[in-house]
Amino acid sequence: MAANFWRIFSIFIWILTLVSSSRTRIYPPNEVTLLDTRTVPGELKWAASPSEGGWEEVSIMDEKNIPIRTYQVCNVLAPNQNNWLRTDWIPRSGAQRVYVEVKFTLRDCNSLPGVTGTCKETFNLYYHESNEDRDSYIKESNFIKVDTVAADESFTQVDVGDRIMKLNTEVRDVKVTTRKGFYLAFQDVGACIALVSVRVFYKTCPLTIRNLATFPDTITGADMSSLVEVRGSCVNQSEEREEPKMYCGADGEWLVPIGGCLCNPGYEEKGGACKACSVGFYKARSSDAGCFKCPPHSHSLRDGASVCDCNSGFFRADSDPPSMACTQPPSAPQQLISVVNETSVVLEWAPPRRLGGRSDTSRERCISDSQLCLPCGSDVLFSPGQTDLKTTRVVVSELRAHTHYTFIIHARNGVSQASGAGASQSVSVTITTNQAAPSPVPSIQATDVTRHSLSLSWQQPDRPNGVILEYEVKFYEKDQRERSYRIMRTFSRSAHVTGLNPLTVYVFHVRARTAAGYGEFSAPFEFSTNSDPFPLIGEGVNSAFMLLSVSGVGILLLISAAIFIISRRYTYTQTETRVKIYVDPFTYEDPDQAIHEFAKEIDVNSIHIERVIGMGEFGEVCSGRLHVQGKREIYVAIKSLKAGYSDKQRRDFLSEASIMGQFDHPNIIRLEGVVTRCKPLMIITEYMENGSLDAFLRKHDGQFTVIQLVGMLRGIASGMKYLSDMSYVHRDLAARNILVNSNLVCKVSDFGLSRVLEDDPEAAYTTRVRRKIPIRWTAPEAIAYRKFTTASDVWSYGIVMWEVVSYGERPYWDMNNQDVIKAIEEGYRLPAPMDCPVVLHQLMLDCWERERAERPTFSQILNMLDKLIRNPGTLRRTGGERYILWILICLVCVVVPGVCVSEWSVCEWLQSVGLERYRDTLAAAGYTSLESLLALTHQELDRLGIITPTHRDILIASVQQEMLSQMQHMQHTMVPV
Ligand code: AMP
Repeated sequence: MAANFWRIFSIFIWILTLVSSSRTRIYPPNEVTLLDTRTVPGELKWAASPSEGGWEEVSIMDEKNIPIRTYQVCNVLAPNQNNWLRTDWIPRSGAQRVYVEVKFTLRDCNSLPGVTGTCKETFNLYYHESNEDRDSYIKESNFIKVDTVAADESFTQVDVGDRIMKLNTEVRDVKVTTRKGFYLAFQDVGACIALVSVRVFYKTCPLTIRNLATFPDTITGADMSSLVEVRGSCVNQSEEREEPKMYCGADGEWLVPIGGCLCNPGYEEKGGACKACSVGFYKARSSDAGCFKCPPHSHSLRDGASVCDCNSGFFRADSDPPSMACTQPPSAPQQLISVVNETSVVLEWAPPRRLGGRSDTSRERCISDSQLCLPCGSDVLFSPGQTDLKTTRVVVSELRAHTHYTFIIHARNGVSQASGAGASQSVSVTITTNQAAPSPVPSIQATDVTRHSLSLSWQQPDRPNGVILEYEVKFYEKDQRERSYRIMRTFSRSAHVTGLNPLTVYVFHVRARTAAGYGEFSAPFEFSTNSDPFPLIGEGVNSAFMLLSVSGVGILLLISAAIFIISRRYTYTQTETRVKIYVDPFTYEDPDQAIHEFAKEIDVNSIHIERVIGMGEFGEVCSGRLHVQGKREIYVAIKSLKAGYSDKQRRDFLSEASIMGQFDHPNIIRLEGVVTRCKPLMIITEYMENGSLDAFLRKHDGQFTVIQLVGMLRGIASGMKYLSDMSYVHRDLAARNILVNSNLVCKVSDFGLSRVLEDDPEAAYTTRVRRKIPIRWTAPEAIAYRKFTTASDVWSYGIVMWEVVSYGERPYWDMNNQDVIKAIEEGYRLPAPMDCPVVLHQLMLDCWERERAERPTFSQILNMLDKLIRNPGTLRRTGGERYILWILICLVCVVVPGVCVSEWSVCEWLQSVGLERYRDTLAAAGYTSLESLLALTHQELDRLGIITPTHRDILIASVQQEMLSQMQHMQHTMVPV
């Protein structure tokens, strides 16, 4: 009987081998094979126990007539089977998690004639880690069980010739980190099995180049959730822009590229490498986009130039960028003429004939006294200036009278110095100044002021321009202006002025005279004669007027205050009737006043504490019962403030109750009351049987339907909408701060001001602000400059969605905070969790819009979730299906060219309007041509989960516009037949 089984079995295997085997093994690029029985030449000779009558090695031929080694056992008739088969020692070669792929056939017990209850349909896979290959026999107790393996395809009960037998492929993974290698063992307990092949491999993220950095072939981490951080090295001829980093995921995929390199000057990126700029081209800075052609009048004679050299006779100024053409110095200015007027001269000239290809040509004058040949002193005035002139005219004044001057005008540009050009760019003229009157007296002082007289004195003019023969003093009453004035003359630099009116302001000017005549009068100087008594209040101001003024100002002030108060009251009444706005308890000077306004005081005797359920910042959290007289007993959570607290801690502890007490919503944790009249202080809230949401989901991984998960998210969104309507910004929205009751109702909790973020273990200091922030949950603007708004709460809500759909997975896994910040800045967003409906991931991405105005509001999120719950069909499409559809579309494109022309135009159009993100969503929903997008309606966009208003407008309105313009274009390009 047993021999018969073997015969049948071998034939099966042969058939199978023909059907499914292939000697040319092509492994995926990210899998490194440690053992493959199908490539082992000769016998395997694995250890078997018992050595006779258990597992048996059998050679069979594949379709190319090459023998392959298999193991078989089929003791289905004998009871108490325990047959072990152990592989040779397999070195793990640095792998931390290995995969075992077993291809096997297994007989269905029902298909075996005459077998009794002894027949089994499974076998067990074991492993044992070991540093060396030393065991020649199988020590069963050393082995750890990996799994019991069963066939997922059973045999069809038909005779050999037409029996269709299925080959099972099962893969199991094992963490092997403790020794240099390991053994695998197969335990049979009475089944009819043939191990057709065993392959052991580990996964790597294959060598890759990303952002010009090379990332080496990297072995994946030990756990399914581990990410191995790998630092890339810049490719040849490139330098680091920002430290290049990527993470190697457990499935051999590279994730989250951060940073990268830039090609050095003289090199540009081509196909992931840096190639030298060719002759005639250059690249000046690594950040430049690529190599550029040499600018005019320059050249590069070798590959890899970072700057082009100037042709002979052309130059580049130090400040000229390498992209600028090489230039020449200008020629000399032309046709210089001078017009002398007393001690000033006007110089005018024509611009140089040749500017040398630059726009920075300027003219400079140098002046010297021709007799002494000295440069002019600083007292000579040049208008508009002495150097860097852009005009062709200058006025030089304040020269000395009767003096010879030479003016040299240079034309210069940015390369004059580099070219060494000198006199060839200048032109000169010599002039002689005429005689001139003295300059004005610079200042006048008054002394000995009386009611009717004063004494004046002044300095000599800065430029007397000759011998001063006399001074003239002109003065008048300020009120009279110059309508009537008096003149005095004197040889000295002082004068005593008499006959003045008391308490009157006079204006004085002084000028000097030489042989050339009078100079200009000085600027006006004002002095007042002496005053009468009571100078402070002044004449004409009587006390009655003063009294009236003071009372007038008082009345005015009173009226203004009344108007202000009335208007404030009016506004207050107006806002009060509109919406209830949350009141910050910290605006109360006395924290007890806030707590008693918003929370009910509970008699400590009505509370019955039962057990400790958690630990809060201020002390233990317990569960218990509350029985207020006249009401039914309820379960409650009790937070107490531990002894020895400070004033600040008391205030912070009670602030949570003062905030919570203002809310009344089914998705916000309800405050029952507080105990403040005796110690310890307590906050009593409703009891949430399932505790915090993150731990709850982790405990029930994969156990809820999508609708249940969306229901939880809906509750949180509803609570958040309520908070945002009350203008309350939560700042620490995360699954750990959501509580779940026995009906799976989720409620937002953890309120408070200073304690928010301070007691959250996720909160970390950022480099820019000195407050802790839970980085992974926080919007970039809140991290960067503490801009916490309802829109930043929406960002956090997106993260909570991701936590919920991934059953409490840690956002961004074990990436560090700095990398999370960088990745977000570079546009990376969390991918859809496993089995996540496309619409939900789209909603998350909307919450993570960089621009906060682009994020949806909680009201829009709530509407969206309600629609999803009403139409559960929309939740069925997950990312996986989407890719299948996408692949199908691509296949059609390849097989039937031309069919997909409009498909590409959808992609291009989405790209052109910046909505590339909806490519997959639209393609998966069958929108493969631009024409098909014309059918988009608001309801359809709801269904697809596209809720951002501007995106909706673009998709509906702009597509019509685009089609219209395409049609117009076609009309113009069509040729009449
Ligand atoms: P908290 O100080 O609010 O972060 O609370 C600490 C822990 O106590 C939470 O993580 C929950 O596990 C538990 N807890 C707090 N409030 C409640 C409640 N109302 N019902 C059930 N468990 C709670």
